[in-house]
This record gives sequence, structure tokens and C-alpha cells, in this order.
Amino acid sequence: MKVPMRTFEYVCGRCGCTYRAFQVASSYGTLGFWDESGKHNAVVDAIGDPLFGRVTTTLQRHPAFPSINERPRGQVIQRVVARLSDPSPSGQAYDPDAKPACPHCGASSPKEWRSVEPPEVTELEIPTLSRTVWNALPEAKQEELLTQEVNDAISRSLE
Ligand SMILES: [Zn+2]
Repeated sequence: MKVPMRTFEYVCGRCGCTYRAFQVASSYGTLGFWDESGKHNAVVDAIGDPLFGRVTTTLQRHPAFPSINERPRGQVIQRVVARLSDPSPSGQAYDPDAKPACPHCGASSPKEWRSVEPPEVTELEIPTLSRTVWNALPEAKQEELLTQEVNDAISRSLE
């Protein structure tokens, strides 16, 4: 879908070069994810997507829920939604913590990044997270995966 994207400048943590990539410009409800290779990105409309509600419900039932603050809760939800979606064209999972890859050395571990000044926003056509595999699963299997991914994401956030 068409999304306003803001240009960011990254400094590669491996080779030190500077490169540019896009992030979703603060637009209510639209979230952007990179895949683990940092080569593909996708967006999702968190408000219109029923999976966010299901993940939230599962999270709220977890015994550790009261001890997790609001910000990590948001990260857990985004991480689970990304992992239950189809992988990227290169077969990797999308991840809310993943960063765009350096075009020179391929590392996706920038050591710093910031919005370019003055800010640049460009409307771009970005693929939407798809869920072909998930949608084909029976309800019971979906619940099982949902619980498993929520548990994993919570353990990571408590590390
Ligand atoms: Zn690099």
C-alpha cells in the first residue's frame, strides 16, 4: 500500500559507511518491519488487522503480563504479529527490531541512525505483511502457535 516514508541516514556498525533507508513516517496505526536480512520491508495496518487483537488477548492471559511495562508490551505484540506473518521474499522472518542492511557490506547492524534534516517524506508503495500460511492453519494450531510465540517474545523481553 502507499505509505508516507521518512528518509533516515544510518551509519554501518561493520564498515562505518553512511547509507540512507526509509522508515514509516509517524502515521497512526501503520507499522513498518524489516526482515532479518534488512533487505525487505513490509507494513501492516495495526488498527484494521484482527491479529493484533488476538495477540493482545493472549498476552493479557499470560501470568507475566502485569510485570511487563507498556512499551515492552507493544514490542511483544509487534514481534508476535511479525513472526506469524509470511516470511519475506528471501525467506526470513520480519522483526520489529531489524534494521535496513548496508548496501556496501550487507550488515544490518547500524550503530546509529537519524532522520535527515530537513526531513524528507516520500510516498512509496510498500508490500503489506501477508499471512497465507497462518490463514490456512486450523484454529487449534493457530492458538498453539500464538501461545508459543507470545511465550518466546515475553522471555526475550524479560531477558
Ligand atoms: Zn557496511
